Amino acid sequence: MLEIQNLSVDFKGNCALDRVSFFVPLGQLVGIIGPNGAGKSTLVQAMLHLVPATQGVVRFKSMPLKRQLRQTAYVPQRSRVDWDYPVTVWNVVMMAQTMQTGLFKGFSQQAQQQVRAALERVEMYDLRDRPIGELSGGQQQRVFLARALAKEAELLIFDEPFTGVDRKTEDIIFDIFQELRSEGKTLLVISHDLGESLAIYDQLLLLNKRLIAQGTRQEVVTSDNLERAYGRGLARVFA
Ligand code: ADP
Ligand code: MG
Repeated sequence: MLEIQNLSVDFKGNCALDRVSFFVPLGQLVGIIGPNGAGKSTLVQAMLHLVPATQGVVRFKSMPLKRQLRQTAYVPQRSRVDWDYPVTVWNVVMMAQTMQTGLFKGFSQQAQQQVRAALERVEMYDLRDRPIGELSGGQQQRVFLARALAKEAELLIFDEPFTGVDRKTEDIIFDIFQELRSEGKTLLVISHDLGESLAIYDQLLLLNKRLIAQGTRQEVVTSDNLERAYGRGLARVFA
C-alpha cells in the first residue's frame, strides 16, 4: 500500500498543500485531478522529496518512500523541463539505467537490451539517435515513458502525460498504463482532463490544496465536489 498522511507544503508562507492524507492499494491506476494551481505537481514532488514538506509521512510497502526511490519512476510535467541540451533519445533512456546500476553496469548487455525493449515498446527505437529537443511533444513524452519503463519501478508517477500529445502517443501511453497495472505496478497519474478519459482509473483523487474527494469516478466527479474544487462555473459544465 502507498500511504500519505498529513502531507503539507508551504511556499514562503503560502500554503500549496494542506494536510493531504490518502491510501492507495498496490496495483492500482490512480488519477489525480484538480484545477490549475491545486497543488497536484506539488503533491507528487513532496512525496518524492523534490520539494520540502512542512509535515507529513509518505510510505510505500510500510517503509518511507524516500528510501525506495530506486523502485520509483517519476515523469515530470513536460513543460517544466528544458529540452535544449543535445542528448539523444537513446541516452535519455540509458541515463536512467546508469544512475541505477552505476556507470560500468549501465553499459552492460542487459542494460542495453532493457533500453532497446523500452524504446520499442513506445515505438521510438527507430528514432534512437535523434536529439531529444528535435522531437514533437508526444514523441518526447514517449521517450520519458521509456525511461520510466527501463527502470522497472514498482511505483510510477506521471505528471500530465496526456497534455499536448498526439493521438498515437495517447493510445500508446494508455495501453502501457493498462499493461503496467496488470503487471501489478502502482501508478499515480496527474490529469487535467475531466472527461471520458477518467474512465481508465481505478480511483480518483480530487485535489485543491486539500483532498476534496477520493473514490470511483462516479463518487468523485459530482457537481458538489467539482464546485468545491473548481468553483461554480466549471462544475456546471462537467456535472
Ligand atoms: P498544479 O500542478 O495543480 O497546477 P502546482 O503544484 O504546480 O499546481 O502549484 C500549486 C501552488 O504552488 C501554485 O499556487 C503555485 O504557484 C505554487 N508553487 C508551485 N511550485 C512553487 C515553487 N517552486 N515556488 C513557489 N511557489 C510554487
Ligand atoms: Mg502541475
